[in-house]
Amino acid sequence: MSATVYMIYDHSELNIKPYIGITKKTLEKRMNQHLSDYGKVLKGRTNYWTRACHIFKHSDDFNIYELETDVPVKDRFKYERRWIRETGSDCLNNQKEFEDKPERDGKKMTCECGMQIFSKEKKVHQKSKTHLKLMEKKNEVKD
Ligand SMILES: [Zn+2]
Repeated sequence: MSATVYMIYDHSELNIKPYIGITKKTLEKRMNQHLSDYGKVLKGRTNYWTRACHIFKHSDDFNIYELETDVPVKDRFKYERRWIRETGSDCLNNQKEFEDKPERDGKKMTCECGMQIFSKEKKVHQKSKTHLKLMEKKNEVKD
C-alpha cells in the first residue's frame, strides 16, 4: 500500500494558492472527505478547519492533482513536509495569516447539564456522551 501527495488547485481568477496534502485514499475520495468536512464546519458540527477550506470558501473552480505517487505509507508525512517546504510561500500550508475560519462565537449558553455551550450546538451537544453523563450524575444527586 502506498500514499499520494496531492495538491488542491484553484482555477478561478482569484489566484488562491494551492493546498498540499497526503492521503492513502484515492484523490477522489480524499476530495470528497475534504468537502464533507468543510460542510460540517459550516454547520458548526466540527472544528476541523484545514487550510484547504480557504479554497472551498472562496473558489468554485478547483481540482485535486497528484504531485507524487507511490509514497511509502510509513514515511508519508515526511514526503508531505518536503513538498510543503519546497513549495515555500507558494502554498496555503505556509501562509502565515489566516482569518478565514468561520466564527464560532454565536451565543453562549449554560446547558442544563452545567456545561457552557454554543446555542447553535445545543441539539448536537444534548445527544453527546458528555451531556448524557453529566445529566445522569445530576439526576443521581437529586434522587
Ligand atoms: Zn448539556
